[in-house]
Amino acid sequence: MARYIFITGGVVSSLGKGLMAASLAALLQARGFRVRIRKFDPYLNVDPGTMSPYQHGEVYVTDDGAETDLDLGHYERFTGVSAHQGDNITSGRVYRDIIAKERRGDYLGATVQVIPHVTDAIKDFAQSDTDDLDFVLCEIGGTVGDIESLPFIEALRQLRNELGRDNTCFVHVTLVPYIAAAGELKTKPTQHSVREMTGLGVQPDILLCRCEKPLPDGERAKIALFCNVRKEAVIPALDASSIYAVPLQYHREGLDDEVLRHFGMTAPAPDLARWDDILDRYEHPEGEVTIGVVGKYVGLPDAYKSLNEALVHGGMANRVKVNIRWIDAELFEKGDDEIAARLEPMHGILVPGGFGERGSEGKIASVRFAKERKVPFLGICLGMQMACIEGARAAGHAKASSTEFGPTDEPVVGIITEWMSKEGLQQRSAEGDLGGTMRLGAYEACLSGNSHVSALYGGATTISERHRHRYEVNAAYRDALEKDGLVFSGMSPDGLLPEIVERPDHPWFIGVQFHPELKSKPFEPHPLFAGFIKAALQQARLV
Ligand code: GLN
Repeated sequence: MARYIFITGGVVSSLGKGLMAASLAALLQARGFRVRIRKFDPYLNVDPGTMSPYQHGEVYVTDDGAETDLDLGHYERFTGVSAHQGDNITSGRVYRDIIAKERRGDYLGATVQVIPHVTDAIKDFAQSDTDDLDFVLCEIGGTVGDIESLPFIEALRQLRNELGRDNTCFVHVTLVPYIAAAGELKTKPTQHSVREMTGLGVQPDILLCRCEKPLPDGERAKIALFCNVRKEAVIPALDASSIYAVPLQYHREGLDDEVLRHFGMTAPAPDLARWDDILDRYEHPEGEVTIGVVGKYVGLPDAYKSLNEALVHGGMANRVKVNIRWIDAELFEKGDDEIAARLEPMHGILVPGGFGERGSEGKIASVRFAKERKVPFLGICLGMQMACIEGARAAGHAKASSTEFGPTDEPVVGIITEWMSKEGLQQRSAEGDLGGTMRLGAYEACLSGNSHVSALYGGATTISERHRHRYEVNAAYRDALEKDGLVFSGMSPDGLLPEIVERPDHPWFIGVQFHPELKSKPFEPHPLFAGFIKAALQQARLV
């Protein structure tokens, strides 16, 4: 039977619980265990798919088409375990399912209540599909004490009671702030947070204490005494130099040892060679490149979390540091001088995914700059669509646009209402719901034999990548785009949907309808990012 590790957060939000869960899972995996990480989000949206990136950061898409919390990206990147639909649940989804059952009459006259109906649904979710696992790590979003997270904590309390202490472990992440005026680290917020937990019937087993200064032995002993845990179970978690240093750091502080001790298990020391290697690549680069990312949500790095990581992975693959300049596409609507001033110092230009018309002319202008100045260019999803609109305009279709931006006579990019998936024909109407109705999840693409992209994928003829979009490049514009030198080098297996475009007469110019950043891992940098950074490095040597 799988053992359960529940990860809660106290004192403040943004303590990096997701990273902590991913790091602990990676450490257990490095000791030979099979792991899976799940995220419980207490908000009422059914999934984060309809939320603004400013509210919630990036929406991470799984192979099976779930729109999930960005922490699932950390989980996949750190463990290599593909997340799926069942790995992220929200209060909204729990209530939606319960209310649908109630309307069907499935509860046979019972009063439907938080306990037991909501808590049972949460417990079922935690325990579903766990047969072949050694550990299931469940991270609870939010901070203990929030009204919204109460049913989740209650469900986990029940689960501990049912499965026993030997099969469940509560790890509580807290903050030990440094008060400069007193020159001291303060343990009181941690004590209060643990008291809040015990008030809900849960005694944490391990405390992970985030701090910006080393935690003195005396403070560690004090936390142990007041919070009713062993001193060794108070794990200091100092701010790390990079996210890739976190698993190694937690191991040095004894986190995985303490978890195994709790479960009464022994295991060989973890094999952390691959973590040492990526940290070395990250900390000792042999060069650097600067990439300009021209987007809309540039004020909030979390909005492009996976993209940021994938660029770093591309740097690791080439042993170079990647400086990312986030550029607001709207700035480019001021004119060409602004574009040249901002983009000339860049060794590569990337137009990422996005929604809506705002900033689109600036993105198109960046594509044109990359095309004409022969600067390496990668367009992702909306970025590929912008590359096609730019190409069509250059080929004489002056009004080329996307129907996403309003009615147009030249729909180079248009809404699709029908497409083939593994499950068969998918159909949508333009007026339908916005939630969960895009082309989502993994789809195959067939690559042209002697294309640049096929060479990057090691000669592959078929690839699988993750999608999240409502609009598609209109294959009817193939000839027009070719006139401007832009060719379709990857198509959907039925030959109807352009998935990849490239410019054979350009050193490195690729647009993809999917999101390659979602599958990049530090140990397995995505070939498009490894190739893009390599090209940027060549560009850096030229300028
Ligand atoms: N807005 C575009 C569409 O829906 C692109 C989406 C994206 O970049 N993820 O097709």
